[in-house]
Amino acid sequence: MDTLHRRNSLGYIIGPRTRSSGPEIVWGRSSDGSLIHITEAQSGAVDSIRCECGEPLIAKKGHRLAHHFAHASGSRSMCKVARISAVASFVTQTVRNGKVRLPILKGAFRYVALENVSVDTFGESIGYRSSLAGHPNRSLTIFIKLTRGQSIPSVQQVEEGGESSFVIDLSKFTNGSDELLRAAILRSAQRFWLFNRAWPSAVEDEARFNRGIVGRIREQLPPLSRSPLRGASLTLPGSPPGKDKPPISDVEWQTLPASELRRRLFGNKYERRQRP
Ligand SMILES: [Zn+2]
Repeated sequence: MDTLHRRNSLGYIIGPRTRSSGPEIVWGRSSDGSLIHITEAQSGAVDSIRCECGEPLIAKKGHRLAHHFAHASGSRSMCKVARISAVASFVTQTVRNGKVRLPILKGAFRYVALENVSVDTFGESIGYRSSLAGHPNRSLTIFIKLTRGQSIPSVQQVEEGGESSFVIDLSKFTNGSDELLRAAILRSAQRFWLFNRAWPSAVEDEARFNRGIVGRIREQLPPLSRSPLRGASLTLPGSPPGKDKPPISDVEWQTLPASELRRRLFGNKYERRQRP
């Protein structure tokens, strides 16, 4: 009891990684629709809390394992809708409170303020689309890698969508505190471009930079009087036309019924895939 671990907002145990450190559900919805964290729930099913996917939840608050929710139906693995929802809320909250470091661009790092985070699907991958603060038509999609093996969309897939996108590799940070996770998302975690619409060669520049051939990149940069920072402005595109699914806004995450969220996230494919 005295050494009971806590879980962070993404559902991972805070502390050293162990075999049982995988994520569990830590957020549910009360009958009036408000978000309930596991720390606020009574043990068992007394509060009638539901998962973001619509399933009834049981609060597991024993003396041995880090507290979490589980589907009352007893399914073992982490619920995909719950996980996406937890990441989306956390990313939204994080970018509201700080600027995000972009992957290297023309040999320099830039920080941008983002807003209006929404969730979008790219094949099997989930993208967190946002817009540059004050520029609702200039969007930037972030993919969050939670495990090393997690698939991310191919460059081709992202290029077809036409939106600037990059990956933040959170896999080394998942068992950190919320504070550490926030710092990792904003600054410290490794990140790389999948596609940059205004500067398509950003992907190659970065690969070269990461291989340590910094000098060669410097040679290609304009003189310092033409600041690479200023030259690196991102001309981000508007929402891509012809998307069959509308993105899910922050407000919709809070208000849409679970069945609608499921449909928006996974479309018809969701019906064919067995939920864990
Ligand atoms: Zn669920």
